[in-house]
Amino acid sequence: MNNELFESVDHYISKLVGQEDEALTAATRSLKETGMPAISVSPNQGKFLQILALLCNAKNILELGTLAGYSTIWMARALPSDGKLITLEADPKHAAVAQKNIERAGLATQVQIKTGKALDILPQLHAEGAGPFDMIFIDADKPPYAEYFEWALRLSRPGTLIVADNVIRDGRVLDKNSTDAAVKGAQRFNKVLAASTAVTATILQMVGVKEYDGMALAVVK
Ligand code: SAM
Repeated sequence: MNNELFESVDHYISKLVGQEDEALTAATRSLKETGMPAISVSPNQGKFLQILALLCNAKNILELGTLAGYSTIWMARALPSDGKLITLEADPKHAAVAQKNIERAGLATQVQIKTGKALDILPQLHAEGAGPFDMIFIDADKPPYAEYFEWALRLSRPGTLIVADNVIRDGRVLDKNSTDAAVKGAQRFNKVLAASTAVTATILQMVGVKEYDGMALAVVK
């Protein structure tokens, strides 16, 4: 695979139609400044998520896995002024950095970060009657992706868009003998997705500035 070409074309596209403003570059910078891993979505993937949110007229978005709030900012910018985005983050340090980035982006009134493990918060959200969400972005730890999908379904309505990142893992999802927990999580998720009668789904392969990977897209029936 010609990764250099994919990277150059990714830069070409982001320069054309995926430019970051100061709030987004500051969010990326904050990763390095605070020693967090550089595992946000890319600028073009952020723009892609924003376009998906616009396409489903999202007023109510749920995200699993905030990190520094980079994808959060892209998606929240698709919301109308009375729209809301709830994002779940297990690491309080990540949540604190994300809070600052979201405030800098002027999105503090629309975005709520809930700190804790997604599998603890999702049942609480359900019990509180949160949702149904118009769009749900799954981007937290990979082993429980199948469980995240089941919770996403419970928090959905017909037409909800569920997006899950990192489901191809550099092609390693093809390795039936993989012992990698993230690969196994993606394989299990992909199987559950394929077997689900509750959604119409596909998976897009993605190349560019990030490792070769893919995003699953599922529309709830
Ligand atoms: N969506 C972010 C973006 O593109 O800017 C990137 C999210 S990063 C890939 C995954 C995040 O999920 C990390 O910040 C990690 O701390 C968080 N995380 C890991 N396990 C989690 C869990 N059980 N519940 C909630 N968040 C978790």
